[in-house]
Amino acid sequence: MQIEKGNHQLFDLPLRVPRSMLQHLPPLSGHRIRVRVQPDLTSLGGKLVSGVGRGAAVHAGSFMRKRVIVLEEALLRFPRRLNRIFIHEVFHFAWLRLGNHERRQYEQLLEAEIRLGAKGELGWSAESLKETLTPADVRRRTIRWRAYACESFCDYSRVDVR
Ligand SMILES: [Zn+2]
Repeated sequence: MQIEKGNHQLFDLPLRVPRSMLQHLPPLSGHRIRVRVQPDLTSLGGKLVSGVGRGAAVHAGSFMRKRVIVLEEALLRFPRRLNRIFIHEVFHFAWLRLGNHERRQYEQLLEAEIRLGAKGELGWSAESLKETLTPADVRRRTIRWRAYACESFCDYSRVDVR
């Protein structure tokens, strides 16, 4: 059973994270999501790590099963960027809940865009994945294709956040 909650009850935010971040989200429901802030986040060997000084710098990461979003501490100095990245991460959870039929419909939109020669993406994460896609990835709906579709969806979710 799904529990209806306001966004303030849905997210467990650290005190130093501005509550105004939640104003940019539509009303959501679901099980509680913990938000953590850590310094110097990097992706290293497929894992999100903090403060090790190695790996590719990342702004955030989400852990679906644990229901945790980890945000880079430096983002706290850039509220608009923080809002956009937070929304992107929240919509990773929405993508998971969307269901196969809806996810497939979104993928079909992306396929049509690619067929029509649309270039670029709304965000870096989707764009970097899109650049590596081959026609076979699209046709076979490979893991890379599905990762791209997810990132595209999450980038699109934050499109009207200024
Ligand atoms: Zn993402």
